[in-house]
Amino acid sequence: MHLFGLFGNPVSHSISPRLHNAVFKAFKLDGCYGRYLIDDASTLFSTFHTLQLEGANVTVPHKEVAYEGCDEVRGIARNIGAVNTLVREGNRVIGYNTDAEGFYHAIASFGKVRSALILGAGGTAKAIASILKEHGVEVMILNRSASRLHFFEENGFTCKTWDTFTAQAFDLIINTTSAGLKDEELPCPKALLETLFNQAHYAYDVIYNKQTPFLKMAQEHHLIYKDGKEMLLHQAVLAFNLFFGNRFDVKQIESCMREIFEL
Ligand code: NDP
Repeated sequence: MHLFGLFGNPVSHSISPRLHNAVFKAFKLDGCYGRYLIDDASTLFSTFHTLQLEGANVTVPHKEVAYEGCDEVRGIARNIGAVNTLVREGNRVIGYNTDAEGFYHAIASFGKVRSALILGAGGTAKAIASILKEHGVEVMILNRSASRLHFFEENGFTCKTWDTFTAQAFDLIINTTSAGLKDEELPCPKALLETLFNQAHYAYDVIYNKQTPFLKMAQEHHLIYKDGKEMLLHQAVLAFNLFFGNRFDVKQIESCMREIFEL
């Protein structure tokens, strides 16, 4: 049997096992995807080997540790410094980041995006900034505080805090903060967000399954907007295919996983 899993803390809320197991069933593969609470990050790779997994996804807060511990990191994950997908190749563990591509797929239905403002400067912001830059989008980072901006400055992004930012026009505004996840907060001061939305065309919130205050305001400003569901779906589709050497049709994987979202 092919064994896979999700590592993180917490993991109990995750839909990933249902997404991956649905594809095993539909494709008649002898596989199983479980979830594993990893309290101590130093046990991540030993758990991977002990369980004899062929692949795994990694979620908060272990993506950076996973990046450090891989035998090899491929693709855009090398720029991001975080991996969310581990694949066994013989005795080696290869790391990838499918969050970035997942996000880019998710905004494919938007029109042309030339400029984007990313609210937040955590791991998700790194993935999104890197993929947008790769596709030639002009990206600025706006964060509440300065402490996390180092990575972005080093990688040539213009970075501002709430204190140093002057509003200007961006095609796309992206919320990568956790504001609105468990509360009714906005990711930046309301007056500032209003000015930004008045000049923008699109809004994206990485939080999923919730109409956050950010998205409510985007709707009020008649923007085209999406929550994080499509990003979650596409990162899972790409991860599944990496587990199997990219041998399947992504559209077929997507269609199986989409059914789970729609249940
Ligand atoms: P991090 O903890 O790495 O970063 C959080 C960022 O949010 C920081 O920049 C922090 O600012 C900012 N922040 C937190 N609270 C507030 C607030 N109340 N107001 C303004 N800024 C705030 O988080 P991640 O990047 O790992 O994850 C962020 C979100 O992305 C989570 O909600 C997660 O669930 C979601 N996510 C969604 C995915 C998907 O597939 N849809 C995939 C991965 C993540 P400061 O530096 O000042 O503290």
